[in-house]
Amino acid sequence: MKHLKLRRAIIATTQRMNELGINQGTAGNVSARAGNGILLTPSGVPYEALRPADLIEMDFDGGWECNVAERYPSSEWRFHLDVLRARPEFGALVHVHPIHATALACQRRGIPSFHYMVAAAGGNSIRCAPYATFGTVKLSRNALKALEGRSACLLANHGVIACGEDLASALALAVEVETLAAQYAQALQTGRPKILPEAEMKRVLIKFKAGYGYGSTPREAPKAAGSRAARPLMRRRPRNVSRSRRR
Ligand code: 13P
Ligand code: ZN
Repeated sequence: MKHLKLRRAIIATTQRMNELGINQGTAGNVSARAGNGILLTPSGVPYEALRPADLIEMDFDGGWECNVAERYPSSEWRFHLDVLRARPEFGALVHVHPIHATALACQRRGIPSFHYMVAAAGGNSIRCAPYATFGTVKLSRNALKALEGRSACLLANHGVIACGEDLASALALAVEVETLAAQYAQALQTGRPKILPEAEMKRVLIKFKAGYGYGSTPREAPKAAGSRAARPLMRRRPRNVSRSRRR
């Protein structure tokens, strides 16, 4: 079978998103770039029952095939195809219906820069795409627009789209969006959270893009416009040691 490893990774992603609690039942869908098109989950099949042969192979013109009878492309094939066609930097798309992010999307609210991790989606906010009926070209258009300069967005009265260069990064971003939505909702309950200014988010984005994130700490902090690069800690003068006592 073609793309067997990728098919298995897609199935593992669908099962993981439910285990992680960011999706439930047969809601949501997953795709990954494969050859000249995409591999996509079928519509309405419980994730624990999915087998590699159940996945749908779709080309960028919308033509599709699946060797298993009674399997049809996810109802959201349109936005999977459109996003992966328009954004060559993405190799995978995860769509989920998580509790907090969806609750926020039902108020048609995006997530502002109340926390610096909002930059994980590529900008200073995570937008909420205007409502359109599931599976429509309109929903796909709205999602594409909300994803401009971003790798994730909310869908009004629906859920979340998260993209990444591969399945693991798309899934990790979906988890991050849900975490941020939960934190934002909690912060809103205790007052009005302070929003980080654009200049600060620019600094964070520069650090993220330079790989100065968790799990990797380059010796030199990246230079932001108008700021000095941080010096390595070792070169700092110890406290309480006066200049005269140093040789
Ligand atoms: P499918 O089962 O057709 O993929 O639909 C689930 C969904 O989330 C629709 O938006
Ligand atoms: Zn959905």
